[in-house]
Amino acid sequence: MNTIAENIHRLKNQLGAKTRLIAVSKTKPKEDILEAYQAGQRAFGENYVQELTEKFELLPQDIEWHFIGHLQSNKVKYIAPFVSWIHAVESEKLLLEINKQAAKQQRSINCLLQVHIATEESKFGFDLDEIMAFCDAFQFDTLPNVRICGIMGMASFSDDEKLVRSEFKKLKTIFDTLKEKKFSDKEHFRELSMGMSSDWKWAIEEGSTMVRVGSAIFGSRK
Ligand SMILES: *Cc1c(COP(=O)(O)O)cnc(C)c1O
Repeated sequence: MNTIAENIHRLKNQLGAKTRLIAVSKTKPKEDILEAYQAGQRAFGENYVQELTEKFELLPQDIEWHFIGHLQSNKVKYIAPFVSWIHAVESEKLLLEINKQAAKQQRSINCLLQVHIATEESKFGFDLDEIMAFCDAFQFDTLPNVRICGIMGMASFSDDEKLVRSEFKKLKTIFDTLKEKKFSDKEHFRELSMGMSSDWKWAIEEGSTMVRVGSAIFGSRK
């Protein structure tokens, strides 16, 4: 078995300069995060609010925390003081709450809109029509404390390369369309968060700028 540090170094080399590595540390102990940190990793992803706030207290303050899981509006207040990125924004209600809580902290939080593309039924994320309608209607400039930096999505849990790549291609097309039609004047709208341990290689070839990799760094989760 490779060590966590070896996995980080190998992944960073393979990713190159265009794609950022978010090390997904959910369910893993703080010792594992520190090992990755000592190997130079600074961006970590977590899925659960309580787990994230506990880790934030215990770990180095220059870690850049990414909340990548499903976030309930009533829990935004717990992470708003320190979280840098929220990857899975999937409703106007959630976006408004993030803005409100970030404003209280006098900070600004980077947000990605979650788009649902996988064939599997999932409750979360905008579908294609919804995200277009939402971005048409919504006045993002009325939310000074959120920065809409791009979109995030997940492919089907499948080893069918053609299927997974076709879903990543869809995400890339949606990203490009939004960038051109709705966010052309927004320099910070430039992130496409897609790719996990099983499919990040395909994701970067399809245009990912951020991969969220957990088990390929820290080993499998229980
Ligand atoms: C857990 C999780 C990941 C990382 O999954 P691995 O397969 O362990 O790399 C990435 N993205 C999201 C949204 C997750 O929940």
